[in-house]
Amino acid sequence: MYKWEENLRKVDPYVPGAQPKQKDVIKLNTNENPYPPSPKVIAAIREGDLENDMRKYPDPNSSDLVRSLKEYYGIEDMDVFVGTGSDDVLSIAFLTCFNSDKPIIFPDVTYSFYPVWARVYGIPYKEIPVDEGMRIRVEDYNVGAEMKEPNGGVVIANPNAPTGINLSRKEIREIVEANSDVVVIVDEAYVDYSGESALSLLVDHENLLIVRTFSKSRAMAGARIGFAIGSPRLIKAMNDVAQSVNSYTKPTTSLRAAVASVEDEEYFRARIDDVLKTRARTVLELKKRGFNVLPSSTNFVFAAPTRIDAKLLFEELGDRKIYVRYFTGERTSKYLRITIGTDREMDALFAAIDEIM
Ligand SMILES: *Cc1c(COP(=O)(O)O)cnc(C)c1O
Repeated sequence: MYKWEENLRKVDPYVPGAQPKQKDVIKLNTNENPYPPSPKVIAAIREGDLENDMRKYPDPNSSDLVRSLKEYYGIEDMDVFVGTGSDDVLSIAFLTCFNSDKPIIFPDVTYSFYPVWARVYGIPYKEIPVDEGMRIRVEDYNVGAEMKEPNGGVVIANPNAPTGINLSRKEIREIVEANSDVVVIVDEAYVDYSGESALSLLVDHENLLIVRTFSKSRAMAGARIGFAIGSPRLIKAMNDVAQSVNSYTKPTTSLRAAVASVEDEEYFRARIDDVLKTRARTVLELKKRGFNVLPSSTNFVFAAPTRIDAKLLFEELGDRKIYVRYFTGERTSKYLRITIGTDREMDALFAAIDEIM
């Protein structure tokens, strides 16, 4: 090791799902939407003044999108922070909200980026085990108890990933109220598939921050737009931190595309229904093949094969150019996380599973 290397910040990075370059693969590994975004999104990009969009810096305040989201959700008293995907929003939220000596707490089985941000920012953290059925136990987050878990903040993905399991709004409210002296981040990346958002809790709970993304239900993972909704004082603190790191992070074309997506409610709802129908069928087909499938409130299922080793099945599917996600780790290694694709893609998956088993 060179002397200069001793000063480098060393971290174990988050490992994103593979993005294969070939076209003829079935990609069920990163929870992307199998359908394209609304045709109005594509039209809005094409109709833009692309030469100017490229030449000029974008709006640092994303004001058109902020206005459009406030109106869409009917949250005039709240404020909206827009980031470069919700990974950026969450990263800025960790940096802004978690500045305590006490550990932040989140489940041991959840979005594996949370411990990575905690480590890179030097935030102490503690992982709280989910139960045998992979459910978050709200009692473990100080609900109905004395301060069992003193903490510097709470992060809950709801529905949780990669389990797909949902907490009710009432349970989220209990967690937010039991931890009213810290910020509670609720990552609602998949909430459009569950219908149970914590949005209505915002008016009475200024310590709640709700994080959303255009990447999944709005089929815009490539545009990199995410946002957070919270009280004006919380969002101001996040904007101050974000503006201290990088000012012009959201490209004009992505912002314009996002506004157009919000304006096409009918298309949005129809594609969610498509995914939910295919999900119902997928659960049945996997159960028929002996999988233990956790109850999903998302656009993916977390399913444990019982007639074959999960890692072997993952590899065999990969050989057949069907990509699903496999997580090593004691609690998750018996499962595969399978994104809901089109009906045709899922039929190809079932056929491949039959061939392998
Ligand atoms: C996909 C995902 C995100 C991040 O998505 P972006 O593309 O960065 O908006 C955040 N949280 C969870 C739980 C996710 O699954």
